[in-house]
Amino acid sequence: MNLGDTIVAIASAVVPNQGSIGIVRLSGQDAPAIAQRLFHSPGQQQWESHRILYGYIRHPETKELIDEALLLLMLAPRSFTAEDVVEFHCHGGIMPVQQVLQLCLDSGARLAEPGEFSLRAFLNGRIDLTQAESVAELVGAKSPQSAQVALAGIQGRLAQPIRDLRSQCLDILSEVEARIDFEDDLPPLDEVGIREELTKVLATVNQILQTSDRGELLRSGLKVAIVGRPNVGKSSLLNAWSRSDRAIVTDLPGTTRDVVESQLIVKGIPVQVLDTAGIRQTEDTVEQIGVERSLQASQKADLVLFTIDAGTGWTEADQEIFAQVGDRPLILVINKTDLGDPTTIAIPESITQVVYTTAAQQKGIEELEEAIATTVAEGTVGAADLDFAINQRQAAALTRAKKSLEQVADTITDQLPLDFWTIDLRTAIQSLGEITGEGVTESVLDRIFSRFCIGK
Ligand code: GDP
Repeated sequence: MNLGDTIVAIASAVVPNQGSIGIVRLSGQDAPAIAQRLFHSPGQQQWESHRILYGYIRHPETKELIDEALLLLMLAPRSFTAEDVVEFHCHGGIMPVQQVLQLCLDSGARLAEPGEFSLRAFLNGRIDLTQAESVAELVGAKSPQSAQVALAGIQGRLAQPIRDLRSQCLDILSEVEARIDFEDDLPPLDEVGIREELTKVLATVNQILQTSDRGELLRSGLKVAIVGRPNVGKSSLLNAWSRSDRAIVTDLPGTTRDVVESQLIVKGIPVQVLDTAGIRQTEDTVEQIGVERSLQASQKADLVLFTIDAGTGWTEADQEIFAQVGDRPLILVINKTDLGDPTTIAIPESITQVVYTTAAQQKGIEELEEAIATTVAEGTVGAADLDFAINQRQAAALTRAKKSLEQVADTITDQLPLDFWTIDLRTAIQSLGEITGEGVTESVLDRIFSRFCIGK
Protein backbone atom coordinates (compact mmCIF):
# COMPACT_ATOMS: atom_id res chain seq x y z
CA MET A 1 0.00 0.00 0.00
CA ASN A 2 1.54 3.27 -1.12
CA LEU A 3 0.93 6.05 1.36
CA GLY A 4 2.20 8.69 -1.06
CA ASP A 5 -0.80 8.20 -3.33
CA THR A 6 -3.82 10.40 -3.29
CA ILE A 7 -6.86 8.23 -2.72
CA VAL A 8 -10.49 8.87 -3.52
CA ALA A 9 -13.81 7.20 -2.72
CA ILE A 10 -17.49 7.89 -2.39
CA ALA A 11 -17.87 8.37 1.36
CA SER A 12 -21.66 8.36 1.56
CA ALA A 13 -24.08 5.53 0.82
CA VAL A 14 -24.83 5.15 -2.87
CA VAL A 15 -28.52 4.45 -3.38
CA PRO A 16 -30.58 5.41 -6.44
CA ASN A 17 -33.23 8.04 -5.74
CA GLN A 18 -32.02 8.49 -2.20
CA GLY A 19 -29.79 10.71 -0.12
CA SER A 20 -30.04 14.37 -0.95
CA ILE A 21 -26.27 14.73 -0.54
CA GLY A 22 -23.47 12.46 -1.71
CA ILE A 23 -19.87 12.93 -0.62
CA VAL A 24 -16.72 12.17 -2.59
CA ARG A 25 -13.61 12.27 -0.43
CA LEU A 26 -9.99 12.71 -1.48
CA SER A 27 -6.97 12.26 0.76
CA GLY A 28 -3.31 12.79 -0.08
CA GLN A 29 -0.88 15.43 -1.26
CA ASP A 30 -2.55 15.96 -4.65
CA ALA A 31 -6.03 16.38 -3.21
CA PRO A 32 -6.05 20.22 -3.25
CA ALA A 33 -4.66 20.36 -6.80
CA ILE A 34 -7.26 17.88 -8.07
CA ALA A 35 -9.98 19.90 -6.37
CA GLN A 36 -8.77 23.13 -7.96
CA ARG A 37 -8.79 21.43 -11.35
CA LEU A 38 -12.40 20.30 -11.04
CA PHE A 39 -14.08 22.89 -8.84
CA HIS A 40 -14.95 26.46 -9.76
CA SER A 41 -16.11 28.80 -7.04
CA PRO A 42 -17.61 32.06 -8.25
CA GLY A 43 -16.98 35.43 -6.61
CA GLN A 44 -14.42 36.24 -3.96
CA GLN A 45 -14.42 32.94 -2.06
CA GLN A 46 -11.07 32.10 -0.45
CA TRP A 47 -9.41 28.71 -0.93
CA GLU A 48 -8.65 28.18 2.71
CA SER A 49 -8.50 25.20 4.98
CA HIS A 50 -11.63 24.40 6.99
CA ARG A 51 -13.82 26.65 4.92
CA ILE A 52 -16.75 25.60 2.79
CA LEU A 53 -16.85 26.85 -0.78
CA TYR A 54 -19.85 26.94 -3.05
CA GLY A 55 -19.51 26.34 -6.76
CA TYR A 56 -19.56 24.06 -9.79
CA ILE A 57 -17.81 20.86 -10.68
CA ARG A 58 -16.88 20.86 -14.34
CA HIS A 59 -15.14 18.44 -16.64
CA PRO A 60 -11.60 19.86 -16.81
CA GLU A 61 -11.34 19.58 -20.59
CA THR A 62 -14.85 19.86 -22.03
CA LYS A 63 -15.95 22.26 -19.25
CA GLU A 64 -19.22 20.35 -19.15
CA LEU A 65 -21.15 21.00 -15.92
CA ILE A 66 -21.17 17.88 -13.73
CA ASP A 67 -22.79 19.17 -10.54
CA GLU A 68 -23.47 22.18 -8.39
CA ALA A 69 -21.78 21.42 -5.11
CA LEU A 70 -20.02 22.47 -1.93
CA LEU A 71 -16.35 21.88 -1.38
CA LEU A 72 -14.64 21.38 1.97
CA LEU A 73 -10.86 21.68 2.15
CA MET A 74 -9.08 20.28 5.23
CA LEU A 75 -5.34 20.69 5.00
CA ALA A 76 -2.84 18.47 6.81
CA PRO A 77 -2.55 17.76 9.63
CA ARG A 78 -6.01 18.96 10.65
CA SER A 79 -7.99 16.22 8.94
CA PHE A 80 -9.18 12.68 9.67
CA THR A 81 -6.23 11.13 7.84
CA ALA A 82 -3.80 13.87 8.93
CA GLU A 83 -3.22 14.40 5.17
CA ASP A 84 -4.68 17.02 2.85
CA VAL A 85 -8.35 16.09 2.53
CA VAL A 86 -10.98 17.45 0.17
CA GLU A 87 -14.66 16.60 0.23
CA PHE A 88 -17.05 17.32 -2.60
CA HIS A 89 -20.58 17.55 -1.24
CA CYS A 90 -22.59 16.74 -4.35
CA HIS A 91 -26.20 15.92 -5.01
CA GLY A 92 -27.15 12.46 -3.79
CA GLY A 93 -28.22 9.37 -5.69
CA ILE A 94 -25.79 7.72 -8.06
CA MET A 95 -24.81 9.89 -11.00
CA PRO A 96 -23.23 13.03 -9.52
CA VAL A 97 -20.97 11.14 -7.10
CA GLN A 98 -19.95 8.56 -9.69
CA GLN A 99 -19.08 11.19 -12.25
CA VAL A 100 -17.09 13.22 -9.73
CA LEU A 101 -15.32 10.06 -8.60
CA GLN A 102 -14.38 9.29 -12.21
CA LEU A 103 -13.04 12.83 -12.73
CA CYS A 104 -10.87 12.46 -9.62
CA LEU A 105 -9.54 9.14 -10.92
CA ASP A 106 -8.86 10.72 -14.32
CA SER A 107 -6.99 13.49 -12.53
CA GLY A 108 -4.53 11.06 -10.92
CA ALA A 109 -6.19 9.87 -7.72
CA ARG A 110 -6.41 6.15 -7.00
CA LEU A 111 -9.57 4.38 -5.80
CA ALA A 112 -9.24 3.84 -2.04
CA GLU A 113 -9.17 0.31 -0.67
CA PRO A 114 -11.84 -0.54 1.93
CA GLY A 115 -10.92 1.19 5.18
CA GLU A 116 -7.94 2.99 3.65
CA PHE A 117 -8.87 6.43 5.01
CA SER A 118 -9.03 4.95 8.50
CA LEU A 119 -5.79 3.03 7.90
CA ARG A 120 -4.06 6.27 6.98
CA ALA A 121 -5.50 7.97 10.05
CA PHE A 122 -4.04 5.12 12.08
CA LEU A 123 -0.64 5.02 10.36
CA ASN A 124 -0.33 8.78 10.67
CA GLY A 125 -0.97 8.56 14.42
CA ARG A 126 -4.30 10.38 14.28
CA ILE A 127 -6.20 7.52 15.92
CA ASP A 128 -5.24 4.19 17.46
CA LEU A 129 -6.52 0.81 16.38
CA THR A 130 -9.39 0.67 18.89
CA GLN A 131 -10.62 4.05 17.68
CA ALA A 132 -10.46 2.94 14.05
CA GLU A 133 -12.42 -0.21 14.87
CA SER A 134 -14.95 1.86 16.79
CA VAL A 135 -15.56 4.07 13.76
CA ALA A 136 -16.48 0.95 11.77
CA GLU A 137 -18.69 -0.17 14.64
CA LEU A 138 -20.52 3.13 14.84
CA VAL A 139 -21.31 2.95 11.14
CA GLY A 140 -22.61 -0.60 11.59
CA ALA A 141 -24.43 0.05 14.89
CA LYS A 142 -27.91 -1.46 15.07
CA SER A 143 -29.20 0.21 18.21
CA PRO A 144 -28.68 3.40 20.25
CA GLN A 145 -26.70 1.46 22.86
CA SER A 146 -24.33 -0.06 20.32
CA ALA A 147 -23.79 3.43 18.92
CA GLN A 148 -23.00 4.73 22.43
CA VAL A 149 -20.47 1.99 23.00
CA ALA A 150 -18.83 2.65 19.63
CA LEU A 151 -18.64 6.37 20.42
CA ALA A 152 -16.95 5.61 23.74
CA GLY A 153 -14.37 3.66 21.75
CA ILE A 154 -13.88 6.51 19.26
CA GLN A 155 -13.24 8.84 22.17
CA GLY A 156 -10.45 6.58 23.40
CA ARG A 157 -12.19 5.27 26.49
CA LEU A 158 -11.09 1.74 25.64
CA ALA A 159 -7.58 2.70 24.55
CA GLN A 160 -6.81 4.60 27.74
CA PRO A 161 -7.16 1.77 30.26
CA ILE A 162 -5.24 -0.53 27.91
CA ARG A 163 -2.41 2.01 27.69
CA ASP A 164 -2.45 2.36 31.47
CA LEU A 165 -2.17 -1.41 31.86
CA ARG A 166 0.68 -1.51 29.38
CA SER A 167 2.56 1.22 31.17
CA GLN A 168 2.06 -0.52 34.54
CA CYS A 169 3.57 -3.67 33.01
CA LEU A 170 6.46 -1.63 31.60
CA ASP A 171 7.11 -0.24 35.10
CA ILE A 172 7.27 -3.74 36.52
CA LEU A 173 9.50 -4.87 33.67
CA SER A 174 11.97 -2.04 34.22
CA GLU A 175 12.09 -2.80 37.96
CA VAL A 176 12.96 -6.41 37.20
CA GLU A 177 15.42 -5.63 34.42
CA ALA A 178 17.25 -3.15 36.61
CA ARG A 179 17.84 -5.98 39.08
CA ILE A 180 19.24 -8.17 36.32
CA ASP A 181 21.62 -5.50 35.07
CA PHE A 182 22.66 -3.74 38.30
CA GLU A 183 21.90 -6.28 40.97
CA ASP A 184 24.64 -5.09 43.35
CA ASP A 185 23.81 -1.39 43.24
CA LEU A 186 20.10 -1.64 44.04
CA PRO A 187 18.01 -2.65 47.04
CA PRO A 188 16.49 -6.13 46.65
CA LEU A 189 13.42 -6.54 44.50
CA ASP A 190 10.14 -5.87 46.29
CA GLU A 191 8.47 -9.15 45.39
CA VAL A 192 5.41 -8.52 47.51
CA GLY A 193 4.91 -5.12 45.90
CA ILE A 194 5.26 -6.56 42.43
CA ARG A 195 2.79 -9.32 43.22
CA GLU A 196 0.28 -6.75 44.45
CA GLU A 197 0.80 -4.69 41.33
CA LEU A 198 0.26 -7.77 39.16
CA THR A 199 -2.94 -8.63 41.03
CA LYS A 200 -4.24 -5.13 40.37
CA VAL A 201 -3.35 -5.32 36.69
CA LEU A 202 -5.05 -8.72 36.37
CA ALA A 203 -8.20 -7.47 38.09
CA THR A 204 -8.50 -4.66 35.55
CA VAL A 205 -7.79 -7.07 32.69
CA ASN A 206 -10.63 -9.30 33.90
CA GLN A 207 -12.99 -6.39 34.25
CA ILE A 208 -12.29 -5.25 30.71
CA LEU A 209 -12.65 -8.81 29.41
CA GLN A 210 -16.12 -8.91 30.88
CA THR A 211 -17.22 -6.18 28.48
CA SER A 212 -16.69 -8.61 25.62
CA ASP A 213 -20.04 -10.37 26.10
CA ARG A 214 -21.91 -7.10 26.13
CA GLY A 215 -20.00 -6.01 23.06
CA GLU A 216 -20.99 -9.17 21.26
CA LEU A 217 -24.57 -8.66 22.36
CA LEU A 218 -24.67 -5.11 21.09
CA ARG A 219 -22.96 -5.93 17.83
CA SER A 220 -24.84 -9.03 16.79
CA GLY A 221 -27.96 -8.56 18.88
CA LEU A 222 -29.66 -10.78 21.43
CA LYS A 223 -31.02 -13.90 19.78
CA VAL A 224 -34.42 -14.80 21.15
CA ALA A 225 -36.63 -17.80 20.36
CA ILE A 226 -40.34 -17.87 21.17
CA VAL A 227 -41.12 -21.49 21.98
CA GLY A 228 -44.34 -23.22 22.92
CA ARG A 229 -47.00 -25.60 21.74
CA PRO A 230 -49.34 -24.58 18.90
CA ASN A 231 -52.01 -21.98 19.60
CA VAL A 232 -50.63 -20.57 22.84
CA GLY A 233 -50.25 -17.27 20.97
CA LYS A 234 -46.59 -17.17 19.91
CA SER A 235 -47.15 -15.42 16.63
CA SER A 236 -49.74 -13.12 18.20
CA LEU A 237 -47.10 -12.26 20.79
CA LEU A 238 -44.53 -11.47 18.14
CA ASN A 239 -47.10 -9.44 16.25
CA ALA A 240 -48.02 -7.46 19.33
CA TRP A 241 -44.36 -7.03 20.12
CA SER A 242 -43.29 -5.77 16.77
CA ARG A 243 -46.60 -3.85 16.60
CA SER A 244 -46.78 -4.69 12.99
CA ASP A 245 -47.81 -7.68 10.97
CA ARG A 246 -45.01 -6.89 8.56
CA ALA A 247 -42.57 -8.64 10.88
CA ILE A 248 -43.99 -11.89 9.67
CA VAL A 249 -44.24 -12.91 6.08
CA THR A 250 -47.64 -14.49 5.69
CA ASP A 251 -48.45 -17.54 3.68
CA LEU A 252 -45.18 -18.07 1.99
CA PRO A 253 -44.93 -21.70 1.03
CA GLY A 254 -41.96 -23.98 1.46
CA THR A 255 -38.41 -22.82 1.79
CA THR A 256 -39.07 -19.15 2.43
CA ARG A 257 -40.04 -20.14 5.94
CA ASP A 258 -36.37 -20.78 6.58
CA VAL A 259 -35.32 -17.20 6.50
CA VAL A 260 -38.07 -15.36 8.29
CA GLU A 261 -36.51 -13.49 11.16
CA SER A 262 -37.57 -10.35 12.97
CA GLN A 263 -35.37 -7.59 14.28
CA LEU A 264 -36.54 -5.50 17.23
CA ILE A 265 -34.90 -2.99 19.53
CA VAL A 266 -35.49 -3.58 23.23
CA LYS A 267 -34.24 -0.89 25.63
CA GLY A 268 -31.46 -0.02 23.22
CA ILE A 269 -30.41 -3.62 22.58
CA PRO A 270 -30.91 -5.15 19.15
CA VAL A 271 -33.03 -8.28 19.49
CA GLN A 272 -33.34 -10.83 16.76
CA VAL A 273 -36.32 -13.15 17.01
CA LEU A 274 -35.10 -16.39 15.48
CA ASP A 275 -37.06 -18.45 13.06
CA THR A 276 -40.42 -16.79 13.29
CA ALA A 277 -41.53 -19.29 10.65
CA GLY A 278 -41.41 -21.96 13.31
CA ILE A 279 -43.67 -20.00 15.60
CA ARG A 280 -46.16 -19.05 12.93
CA GLN A 281 -49.59 -20.46 13.34
CA THR A 282 -49.32 -23.45 11.11
CA GLU A 283 -51.71 -25.82 9.42
CA ASP A 284 -52.18 -29.26 10.95
CA THR A 285 -49.78 -31.02 8.64
CA VAL A 286 -46.90 -28.76 9.41
CA GLU A 287 -47.84 -27.97 12.99
CA GLN A 288 -45.44 -30.49 14.39
CA ILE A 289 -42.71 -29.14 12.16
CA GLY A 290 -43.44 -25.73 13.65
CA VAL A 291 -42.78 -26.99 17.18
CA GLU A 292 -39.62 -28.76 16.11
CA ARG A 293 -38.40 -25.73 14.29
CA SER A 294 -38.92 -23.45 17.25
CA LEU A 295 -37.12 -25.99 19.42
CA GLN A 296 -34.21 -25.94 17.00
CA ALA A 297 -34.23 -22.15 17.06
CA SER A 298 -34.09 -22.30 20.84
CA GLN A 299 -30.75 -24.10 20.64
CA LYS A 300 -29.24 -21.12 18.83
CA ALA A 301 -30.95 -18.56 21.04
CA ASP A 302 -29.39 -16.57 23.89
CA LEU A 303 -32.79 -16.43 25.52
CA VAL A 304 -35.95 -18.56 25.22
CA LEU A 305 -39.40 -17.07 25.69
CA PHE A 306 -41.30 -20.16 26.71
CA THR A 307 -44.96 -19.42 26.12
CA ILE A 308 -48.00 -21.10 27.64
CA ASP A 309 -51.74 -20.40 27.66
CA ALA A 310 -53.38 -19.10 30.87
CA GLY A 311 -56.70 -20.56 29.74
CA THR A 312 -55.40 -24.13 29.78
CA GLY A 313 -52.71 -23.78 32.42
CA TRP A 314 -49.51 -25.86 32.40
CA THR A 315 -50.39 -28.89 30.26
CA GLU A 316 -48.56 -32.12 29.57
CA ALA A 317 -47.59 -30.85 26.15
CA ASP A 318 -46.09 -27.75 27.80
CA GLN A 319 -44.18 -30.01 30.16
CA GLU A 320 -42.79 -32.01 27.22
CA ILE A 321 -41.51 -28.92 25.47
CA PHE A 322 -40.21 -27.43 28.70
CA ALA A 323 -38.20 -30.61 29.30
CA GLN A 324 -36.28 -29.75 26.15
CA VAL A 325 -35.67 -26.06 26.78
CA GLY A 326 -35.76 -25.77 30.58
CA ASP A 327 -31.98 -25.69 30.91
CA ARG A 328 -31.67 -22.62 28.69
CA PRO A 329 -31.80 -19.00 29.88
CA LEU A 330 -35.56 -18.63 29.88
CA ILE A 331 -38.46 -16.33 30.57
CA LEU A 332 -41.87 -17.93 31.04
CA VAL A 333 -44.55 -16.00 29.18
CA ILE A 334 -48.07 -16.82 30.34
CA ASN A 335 -50.28 -15.53 27.54
CA LYS A 336 -54.07 -15.21 27.20
CA THR A 337 -54.46 -13.84 30.73
CA ASP A 338 -57.98 -12.83 29.69
CA LEU A 339 -58.91 -16.52 29.68
CA GLY A 340 -57.61 -17.56 33.09
CA ASP A 341 -55.84 -16.39 36.22
CA PRO A 342 -52.11 -16.81 35.54
CA THR A 343 -51.18 -16.54 39.20
CA THR A 344 -52.87 -19.83 40.06
CA ILE A 345 -50.86 -21.88 37.56
CA ALA A 346 -48.31 -24.18 39.16
CA ILE A 347 -44.98 -23.80 37.42
CA PRO A 348 -41.62 -25.54 37.88
CA GLU A 349 -39.49 -24.05 40.62
CA SER A 350 -36.54 -23.58 38.32
CA ILE A 351 -38.38 -20.79 36.51
CA THR A 352 -37.51 -17.46 38.05
CA GLN A 353 -38.71 -15.00 35.43
CA VAL A 354 -42.41 -14.92 34.61
CA VAL A 355 -44.30 -12.40 32.50
CA TYR A 356 -48.07 -12.20 31.93
CA THR A 357 -49.31 -11.14 28.51
CA THR A 358 -52.54 -10.80 26.59
CA ALA A 359 -51.11 -10.76 23.12
CA ALA A 360 -54.51 -10.37 21.49
CA GLN A 361 -54.89 -7.04 23.29
CA GLN A 362 -51.23 -6.03 23.03
CA LYS A 363 -50.89 -6.21 26.81
CA GLY A 364 -47.79 -7.16 28.78
CA ILE A 365 -45.26 -6.25 26.10
CA GLU A 366 -43.63 -3.56 28.23
CA GLU A 367 -43.23 -6.10 31.06
CA LEU A 368 -41.76 -8.59 28.61
CA GLU A 369 -39.19 -6.05 27.46
CA GLU A 370 -38.38 -5.19 31.09
CA ALA A 371 -37.79 -8.87 31.82
CA ILE A 372 -35.51 -9.22 28.80
CA ALA A 373 -33.54 -6.12 29.80
CA THR A 374 -33.18 -7.48 33.34
CA THR A 375 -31.91 -10.82 32.07
CA VAL A 376 -29.39 -9.08 29.83
CA ALA A 377 -28.23 -6.83 32.67
CA GLU A 378 -27.74 -9.85 34.93
CA GLY A 379 -25.67 -11.57 32.28
CA THR A 380 -23.29 -8.64 32.00
CA VAL A 381 -23.14 -7.37 35.57
CA GLY A 382 -19.35 -7.43 35.76
CA ALA A 383 -19.10 -4.94 32.96
CA ALA A 384 -21.81 -2.63 34.28
CA ASP A 385 -19.58 0.28 35.25
CA LEU A 386 -17.59 0.37 32.02
CA ASP A 387 -19.22 2.17 29.11
CA PHE A 388 -17.12 0.66 26.33
CA ALA A 389 -17.04 -2.91 25.04
CA ILE A 390 -14.17 -4.81 23.49
CA ASN A 391 -14.53 -6.75 20.26
CA GLN A 392 -13.37 -10.29 19.55
CA ARG A 393 -9.94 -9.31 18.26
CA GLN A 394 -9.29 -7.13 21.28
CA ALA A 395 -10.60 -9.81 23.64
CA ALA A 396 -8.26 -12.39 22.09
CA ALA A 397 -5.22 -10.14 22.58
CA LEU A 398 -6.30 -9.27 26.11
CA THR A 399 -6.74 -12.95 26.95
CA ARG A 400 -3.19 -13.60 25.70
CA ALA A 401 -1.95 -10.77 27.92
CA LYS A 402 -3.84 -12.26 30.85
CA LYS A 403 -2.25 -15.68 30.36
CA SER A 404 1.24 -14.18 30.23
CA LEU A 405 0.61 -12.14 33.38
CA GLU A 406 -0.65 -15.23 35.19
CA GLN A 407 2.54 -16.96 34.13
CA VAL A 408 4.59 -14.13 35.62
CA ALA A 409 2.75 -14.69 38.89
CA ASP A 410 3.53 -18.43 38.71
CA THR A 411 7.16 -17.68 37.93
CA ILE A 412 7.40 -15.57 41.07
CA THR A 413 5.76 -18.31 43.15
CA ASP A 414 8.15 -20.89 41.75
CA GLN A 415 11.11 -18.63 42.56
CA LEU A 416 12.45 -18.90 39.02
CA PRO A 417 15.29 -16.60 37.92
CA LEU A 418 14.41 -13.02 37.00
CA ASP A 419 15.05 -13.64 33.29
CA PHE A 420 11.96 -15.81 33.24
CA TRP A 421 9.81 -13.02 34.64
CA THR A 422 10.84 -10.69 31.89
CA ILE A 423 9.95 -13.13 29.10
CA ASP A 424 6.29 -13.31 30.10
CA LEU A 425 6.11 -9.64 30.97
CA ARG A 426 7.36 -8.75 27.51
CA THR A 427 4.77 -11.04 25.90
CA ALA A 428 2.02 -9.41 27.97
CA ILE A 429 3.22 -5.94 26.94
CA GLN A 430 3.29 -7.03 23.30
CA SER A 431 -0.28 -8.41 23.51
CA LEU A 432 -1.58 -5.24 25.16
CA GLY A 433 0.13 -3.18 22.46
CA GLU A 434 -1.64 -5.18 19.76
CA ILE A 435 -4.98 -3.95 21.06
CA THR A 436 -4.17 -0.30 20.44
CA GLY A 437 -2.08 -1.16 17.38
CA GLU A 438 1.50 -0.87 18.62
CA GLY A 439 3.84 -3.23 16.83
CA VAL A 440 1.18 -4.95 14.74
CA THR A 441 2.24 -6.34 11.38
CA GLU A 442 1.02 -5.11 8.03
CA SER A 443 -0.90 -8.32 7.37
CA VAL A 444 -2.82 -7.94 10.63
CA LEU A 445 -3.65 -4.36 9.69
CA ASP A 446 -4.76 -5.47 6.24
CA ARG A 447 -7.06 -8.02 7.78
CA ILE A 448 -8.62 -5.50 10.14
CA PHE A 449 -9.08 -2.65 7.71
CA SER A 450 -10.24 -4.75 4.76
CA ARG A 451 -13.43 -5.45 6.70
CA PHE A 452 -14.25 -1.74 6.64
CA CYS A 453 -16.41 -0.39 3.85
CA ILE A 454 -15.07 1.67 0.99
CA GLY A 455 -14.80 5.35 1.68
CA LYS A 456 -14.17 4.92 5.38
P1 GDP B 1 -49.28 -19.82 17.94
O1 GDP B 1 -49.69 -21.06 17.23
O2 GDP B 1 -48.65 -20.13 19.25
O3 GDP B 1 -48.43 -18.91 17.12
O4 GDP B 1 -50.63 -19.04 18.30
P2 GDP B 1 -51.32 -17.81 17.57
O5 GDP B 1 -50.59 -16.56 17.83
O6 GDP B 1 -51.57 -18.15 16.16
O7 GDP B 1 -52.66 -17.72 18.38
C1 GDP B 1 -53.59 -18.79 18.44
C2 GDP B 1 -54.97 -18.24 18.72
O8 GDP B 1 -54.99 -17.64 20.01
C3 GDP B 1 -55.39 -17.16 17.75
O9 GDP B 1 -56.75 -17.34 17.44
C4 GDP B 1 -55.18 -15.87 18.52
O10 GDP B 1 -56.04 -14.86 18.12
C5 GDP B 1 -55.48 -16.32 19.93
N1 GDP B 1 -54.79 -15.51 20.92
C6 GDP B 1 -53.51 -15.07 20.93
N2 GDP B 1 -53.23 -14.35 22.03
C7 GDP B 1 -54.38 -14.29 22.73
C8 GDP B 1 -54.76 -13.68 23.97
O11 GDP B 1 -53.98 -13.02 24.66
N3 GDP B 1 -56.03 -13.87 24.40
C9 GDP B 1 -56.94 -14.61 23.67
N4 GDP B 1 -58.16 -14.72 24.16
N5 GDP B 1 -56.62 -15.17 22.50
C10 GDP B 1 -55.36 -15.02 22.03
